[in-house]
Amino acid sequence: MIDVAIIGGGPAGVAAALRLKARGLGRVAILEREPVLGGVPRHCGHPPFGMHEFGRILSGPAYARRLAAAAEAAGVEILLRHTVVRLHPGGTLDIATPDGPREFRALRVLLATGARESPRSARFIGGDRPLGVLNTGALQAHIYLYGTTPFRRPVVAGTELVSLSALLTCRRHGIRPVAMLEAGHRPTARRPLAWLPRLLRTPTHYGAQIEEICGAERVERVRLRDGREITCDGVLLTGQFTPESSLARMGHLAVDAHSLGPVVDQYGRCSDNAYFAAGNVLRGIETAGWSYREGTAIADYIADDLCGGLPSMEGAVEILCGEGLKYAVPQTLARVTQMRGLLQLRVAAPARGQLRVRAGKTILYRSWLSALPERRVLLDLEQIRLPQGVSQITVEVAR
Ligand SMILES: Cc1cc2nc3c(=O)[nH]c(=O)nc-3n(C[C@H](O)[C@H](O)[C@H](O)COP(=O)(O)OP(=O)(O)OC[C@H]3O[C@@H](n4cnc5c(N)ncnc54)[C@H](O)[C@@H]3O)c2cc1C
Repeated sequence: MIDVAIIGGGPAGVAAALRLKARGLGRVAILEREPVLGGVPRHCGHPPFGMHEFGRILSGPAYARRLAAAAEAAGVEILLRHTVVRLHPGGTLDIATPDGPREFRALRVLLATGARESPRSARFIGGDRPLGVLNTGALQAHIYLYGTTPFRRPVVAGTELVSLSALLTCRRHGIRPVAMLEAGHRPTARRPLAWLPRLLRTPTHYGAQIEEICGAERVERVRLRDGREITCDGVLLTGQFTPESSLARMGHLAVDAHSLGPVVDQYGRCSDNAYFAAGNVLRGIETAGWSYREGTAIADYIADDLCGGLPSMEGAVEILCGEGLKYAVPQTLARVTQMRGLLQLRVAAPARGQLRVRAGKTILYRSWLSALPERRVLLDLEQIRLPQGVSQITVEVAR
C-alpha cells in the first residue's frame, strides 16, 4: 500500500511529494499522465519561475526540469504515462497505464491536476470550424514541445496575465498578432504588464468579443459581436481558467459551484477525507510559486493527518460565496480554537465596497475592498472567530 498517491506532477504535486518525503513518509508516488514531470511550466518557454522555490529566476522548462530532478533525488516513486481515470471512496484509483488498466490504493490521495483554459465551446463562439483555433497551452506545446508554428497573424482573445505570456510566445517565434480583444473596458492584467501589447504594437480592442470564426480550412477572419470583422489566420483563446476537476466531478467528491474545484476545508481536505487537493485544481488560477507553496502546506496537513493530527470535520462550518464574489476557497472550516490559513477570494466584476464575513446578521469581519477580476484577494482566517451553533457563514462584497 502506498502512503500518499499524488495525481499530477506539476509544481503543486511535486512540492507536496518533496515535503511528504522530508516528513519521513515511506512510499509517496506521483501519477502523471505525461511522459515527464513538471506540469504546465514545461511548455512556458519564458521566465519568471522558481524565485521562491529555487532562489533564482528560471524559464518554465528549466523550472520543470528542476522539479523532476528534485523528485527523483528525494526518492519519490514517479509513474509517468499513468492517467488516473476514476476515484473510488477511501483512496482507491483506477489508472490507465502503458501496460493496461490498473488499480492503485493509497492511504491518502492528493489531487494536483491543475487547471485548463476554457475552450471555444465554453465561450459560445459560433461560425465555421477551421484549423488554427487554440488555447495558450496548446500554442506553447506546438512551439516548445513539437517545434511547429500553427499560425502567423492570429487575434488574441483576453488580456489576463496568461494572455501576455501568449503574446510574448508569439513575438519570440515570429508570430505577429493582429489584435488583442478584451470583453471588458480595461485590461485584466495589472500595470505595467498591461502595457505590453502597446509596447509590442498589438492593437487592443475593448468591449470586444468574438461572435463568429470564419474560414473553410483555415481561419480567415473573425466577426465581433458589434459587427466588426478582423482578418486573421488564427484565434488564440487565452485565460478563463477552469480547474481540471473532472475526476472529482465524475467521482464521489463534492465540487464547488463557484470555484468549480473540489470542496475543501482549511487543510485542503475533500468531502471524502482520504482525498486532499492543492494547486490550480482548487481554482483557476494562481502562479507556479503559489501552487508550489500550497502543495507544501497541504502535504504538511496530510502528514499530520496520517499521524492522527487533523481536527475532525464534525460541526464544520460551510462558507457561502455571497454577492460580488466569483469564488471562495476553502468552502468549509473545521472548528478549531485558533484558525490558520488564508481564505482565497476573487471578485466576479470590478468591485468597490465592504468585504464582509457574516453569520446571519452578525458581522464577523469587515474591511474596505477595491478589486478587479482575476486579482488575488486574501483574508487571513485568523481574523474570523466562529460563534457557537453557527453552521454557515457568508462572505460578500457589500456596496
Ligand atoms: C500559458 C501559461 C503561462 C504561465 N506563465 C507563468 C509564469 O510565467 N510564472 C508563473 O509563476 N506561473 C505561470 N503560469 C501558471 C503556472 O503554470 C501554474 O500556476 C502552475 O503550473 C500550477 O501548478 P499545478 O501543479 O497546480 O498544475 P499543473 O502545472 O497544471 O500540473 C498538473 C499536472 O497534472 C497532470 N494531470 C492532470 N490530470 C491528470 C490525470 N487524470 N492523471 C494523471 N495526471 C494528470 C497534468 O498532466 C499536469 O502535469 C502560467 C500558466 C500558463 C497556462
